Amino acid sequence: MRLSWLAACLALSVACGSMRVQPIIDSRAQPLVSPVDLLVFAPHPDDEVIGAAGLVRRAVESGKRVLIVFVTNGDAYANAASALVHRSVDELRAGDYLVLAAARQREAIDADRILGVNPRDLIFLGYPDGGLAELYADGGHDRIQSPATGLTMTYGPVERDYHTLAHGKPAPYTREAALADVQEIIENARPARVVVTDPGDLHPDHQATYDLVRDAIAAAGFKGELLTFVVHSGPGWPWPIGATRLESPGHRRSGSRSRPWSRLSRSRPSTRISPSSIHRSTDCSSSRS
Ligand SMILES: [Zn+2]
Repeated sequence: MRLSWLAACLALSVACGSMRVQPIIDSRAQPLVSPVDLLVFAPHPDDEVIGAAGLVRRAVESGKRVLIVFVTNGDAYANAASALVHRSVDELRAGDYLVLAAARQREAIDADRILGVNPRDLIFLGYPDGGLAELYADGGHDRIQSPATGLTMTYGPVERDYHTLAHGKPAPYTREAALADVQEIIENARPARVVVTDPGDLHPDHQATYDLVRDAIAAAGFKGELLTFVVHSGPGWPWPIGATRLESPGHRRSGSRSRPWSRLSRSRPSTRISPSSIHRSTDCSSSRS
């Protein structure tokens, strides 16, 4: 165990040297985030497309400004890293997960550009994929380590992490730091709508992202509308492909059946963008400001 741990650390130190995780000094005087209409939080690159592509596209088409925040770089998906670096899952090293993070950032930039979102309106927080539930549960100052990359601070391999850009240095993997980043973005973005994964979603990172956003909007005094969407909800969701049911198994499990669902219809049948099924939350304030 000690040898494998040491090998992982060595691999990580080499990878880190080329991944620009060292602190930098940000010379911008203005806040990174300016006011937007729609603010979407995605636990991983692709969740915003799976869960809110229709909503994002409609907002862009109507001239509204959209900001998308990725909480993690999606770097802990072992099968994807394996396919990317052509190494078996058992042989993956920390640096391989950083290669995956770079690929997923690039894919997110490309995908959201198709939706009409400018890359400058994407924010990567760089918190640990597969570690958000632990980060949230640890409850404050205790720093956790990414199960994939071995890192303990935010980073961005292609696009730098938000905290480094905004504050000149990465943030530790703590609930306190993650909440501060999310709250700061909400306060500066002043959105009319916030969209995030639903608490009934079965993926721990998705549940933790909701928890972080819920806490942050409460602390920020957000008075806009909170919408949620489900990505992972076990067999039967989102199958069959096509129009989704207005209630997911995850929602029955989470006991939130009484909360109303909305269906977003495509405005133009010819568009290639799929509609989103979204959930209008009543856990938090849903009145428009
Ligand atoms: Zn996800």
